[in-house]
Amino acid sequence: MKIVIAQMEHETNTFSPVPTPWESFGPNGAYLGKDAYQAMKGTRTPIGAFIDLAEKENAEIVTPVSGFAYPSGPVDGAAYDRFCDLICDEVAKGCDAIMLDLHGAMVVQHRTMDGEGTLLEKVRTVAPKTPIAVSLDLHANVTDTMVSNATVIAGYKTYPHIDMYETGELAGSILLRAMKGEVKPVMVWGNVPILAQTLKMNTSEGAMKDYAEAAHQAEREGALAASAFGGFPMADIPQAGMSTIIITDANRPAGEAMRDRILSVAWSQKEDFIWHDEPLEQAIARAKQMKEGPILLLDHPDNCATGATQDTMHVLKEALRQGLTDIAVGPIRDPEAVDQLIRAGVGANVTLPIGGKMDMPAINRKGEPLELTGIVRAITDGEYTITGPQFTGVRAMMGRSVVFDAGSAEIVITERLQEPWDRGVFTSVGIDPTRKKYLLLKSRMYFRPVFLPIAKDMVYCDGVGVGSSDWRMFNYEHLRRPIYPLDEQFDISHLSETAPAAAQNQ
Ligand SMILES: [Zn+2]
Repeated sequence: MKIVIAQMEHETNTFSPVPTPWESFGPNGAYLGKDAYQAMKGTRTPIGAFIDLAEKENAEIVTPVSGFAYPSGPVDGAAYDRFCDLICDEVAKGCDAIMLDLHGAMVVQHRTMDGEGTLLEKVRTVAPKTPIAVSLDLHANVTDTMVSNATVIAGYKTYPHIDMYETGELAGSILLRAMKGEVKPVMVWGNVPILAQTLKMNTSEGAMKDYAEAAHQAEREGALAASAFGGFPMADIPQAGMSTIIITDANRPAGEAMRDRILSVAWSQKEDFIWHDEPLEQAIARAKQMKEGPILLLDHPDNCATGATQDTMHVLKEALRQGLTDIAVGPIRDPEAVDQLIRAGVGANVTLPIGGKMDMPAINRKGEPLELTGIVRAITDGEYTITGPQFTGVRAMMGRSVVFDAGSAEIVITERLQEPWDRGVFTSVGIDPTRKKYLLLKSRMYFRPVFLPIAKDMVYCDGVGVGSSDWRMFNYEHLRRPIYPLDEQFDISHLSETAPAAAQNQ
């Protein structure tokens, strides 16, 4: 048995000014061939699970490409073509199964608003009968093209995503069982017109917890896989929003009933998927009153894991204005500042503009650097191994990195985008985050498994960035309407009739 296994992951924020060339998909672009296998084997990711499953079957494994890019603007067309060609060319040589680790919210410049659906369509054209298993992120904006061109699709059930491996394992094992004739997967899907905000998608709280639990319940009731997607809202595409995919063992009516039940759990609590921010000045004043650290200051609108530039300085500026001290800031992406500070050297006293190097035309904001004076405390290559619990074992590369000590704040400045999803963003440059009063993190959700356990409190800070959870910042042109909360009044009384046509595969 020969299995083609590949990864192509990107969450596209169509409002982001950050470009997404081939080089964004790995240290030197996406991994190819044996390098893809070497890089992903043993990781707690869907592709890591696909490799393990295939090896258990003693299958011949081919890994044409494996690439994961941080969320950013639409993917470069040539980079996307390269992914598609690498995968389709390998499939065209002949194989018994295909396992793809995809995101589900990829938009491609000059090509498609449905990167995954278009890829799957191409793969199906090359291999019309070959079974295809797909893993998707919880933030996938699912389309009919994706569902109609895959055999099995399963999505993460957690946010923060700590079940990546399990999701790949689920999708891959259903496919293998189907190939052995043990089950006959029938897939149905549907969506509800809710543009949920990612800050309200924590699967351990509120409506999102109920929605995710409804998917677990469907699996307990016999669904082979039930995936409740939150969707990705910073995507101006028709199918952005919440959706559900159910796979049953040849029981379409049961699948449709489960789908409708899960979607109605979301619809009945739609107000709870919308985020309301506290004014920044008030949030910082509140943080100032807190006695014991570490206190997390969460600059969520500038979170690079949502496509933001990770270089806006508004939260730090306000924190310094109100006199907060003993702050560690992590990381700010500013290659120019890194270069200047490395040339100055450790121990040098420097005054320079930090951050604010990128304009954000989609939200009508120009970059606003913050001029600071301080001492270069450390210079590193920015590499560390993530200890978990998410992306455990993956080598993180922040690019050359500098610790700039501006007195009240020690700032980690990096060349590359880096979500603070591991304490390594601080410990790898010599900062002990447990000993700081404040940790200013450009994070919205990934801080939870790693920083929440060491934090005494946390404050969401309404900074500036294209990762904002305020939907009024964005001008949607392609999104289907009506959709909540952009449109307040509409009726959705017949869910299964309004849901798009379900697709069947086996
Ligand atoms: Zn996600």
